[in-house]
Amino acid sequence: MKIVCIGAGPAGLYFAISAKLRDAGHDVTVIERDPPGATYGWGVVYWDDLLDTLYSNDRESAQRIRAESSLWQEQKIALRTDEAAYLTGYGYSVNRAPMLEILASRAAELGVRIEYERAAEDLSEFADADLIVVADGANSRIRQRYSEQFGTIVDEGRNPYIWLGTDRVFDNFTFDFEETPQGWVWFHAYPSSAGVSTFIVECQESTWQALGFDRLSDAEGVRLLERIFARMLGGHTLISQSRGKAASWQRFTQVYNQTWRHDNVILIGDAAHTTHFTIGSGTRLAMVDGIMLAQKLFEHEDVAGALKSFDEEGHAALRVAQAAARTSMAWFESLDRYTDRNALDFSYALAARHGRQPPWRYQRHMINQKPMVRKGLRWANNCRRVYRARRRGETWR
Ligand SMILES: Cc1cc2nc3c(=O)[nH]c(=O)nc-3n(C[C@H](O)[C@H](O)[C@H](O)COP(=O)(O)OP(=O)(O)OC[C@H]3O[C@@H](n4cnc5c(N)ncnc54)[C@H](O)[C@@H]3O)c2cc1C
Repeated sequence: MKIVCIGAGPAGLYFAISAKLRDAGHDVTVIERDPPGATYGWGVVYWDDLLDTLYSNDRESAQRIRAESSLWQEQKIALRTDEAAYLTGYGYSVNRAPMLEILASRAAELGVRIEYERAAEDLSEFADADLIVVADGANSRIRQRYSEQFGTIVDEGRNPYIWLGTDRVFDNFTFDFEETPQGWVWFHAYPSSAGVSTFIVECQESTWQALGFDRLSDAEGVRLLERIFARMLGGHTLISQSRGKAASWQRFTQVYNQTWRHDNVILIGDAAHTTHFTIGSGTRLAMVDGIMLAQKLFEHEDVAGALKSFDEEGHAALRVAQAAARTSMAWFESLDRYTDRNALDFSYALAARHGRQPPWRYQRHMINQKPMVRKGLRWANNCRRVYRARRRGETWR
């Protein structure tokens, strides 16, 4: 089958790998508008569930991604820097750039052609393809062009955010909420590669304007953030430049589509659906789309049947994550409702933002703050982590 895939992000590349693994006879070309190695953003977090899925789908690229990733333990939630509370658990983080390099080189090993520096403008360029996979991200040009056929709804989040790096290395996944005379500004940070952490700043629109971010240059804005978070940064700096491009303030793009298919065209990843970054799931969902679509093509004799099945099952599987993402985004957009609490109650509200919790959860949260209990939980989590790593056959350590 002749397959063209638009976009060499996690969705497009992982679909190409998964399709080739299931049928080496597929002729797969990935079109990417940027040059090799160019991408936006810093690290993305993920959890054991994704590693389990990647190892069972393609052990080779899974090992390389795991080896490139950092482990973080616990979430530390700091309110006005000096009051802190902890949430138990662990996860991983990997920088987008090396992850995409791993996926691109694995795809090339399997015989996928990647055409860089070619922007797809219209589907008519690919008239001879049996299948066109649209994986060109949240602002997908192709989806915009056929928005009526897909039933697209796009909303913008209210809070401005900026995706930065820092040379201060955070061991935990850290949330810090700082009160300025103009309103609250907060970041979440996590280790993502040797010597560098990912640092994502968010605030409400009114605060953003009152602090003058709409008038400051990119560099001045970053210096102001360094002053706001000075105590947390401890003399370290924020890094705006990533692969030659300075980060700028954005509003989150929420994407929904009634259907992801139109003739022989299918949307996957952020082009099809987005989930707010505070639940850290977009990359996982993009890669899982890639696997699911490849599997449907493998199982069905005709493309139409495969796309229909992918569309139906994919939409159903996504509901929980999309609902969690909407509540999470709304929680941060109404942050002022919670900031009069102490750090313990505030962190509980943050952890429980996805829905009602049984009362014992709060008691457990209080107990989990005791240093001895935290130490015990860390130990238990480490045992669980090693067990899961062994079960999926991790050998890189
Ligand atoms: C601030 C922030 C933090 C995030 N943190 C996390 C996290 O911690 N964990 C997580 O799982 N997810 C996270 N995400 C979400 C994650 O980045 C996305 O969900 C994921 O990148 C989606 O992958 P994709 O391949 O669909 O799209 P993208 O990664 O956006 O890739 C799309 C590709 O298509 C290319 N392209 C675009 N237009 C064209 C065209 N016309 N022709 C050819 N190529 C084109 C682009 O250059 C790009 O390479 C975060 C997102 C943001 C904004």
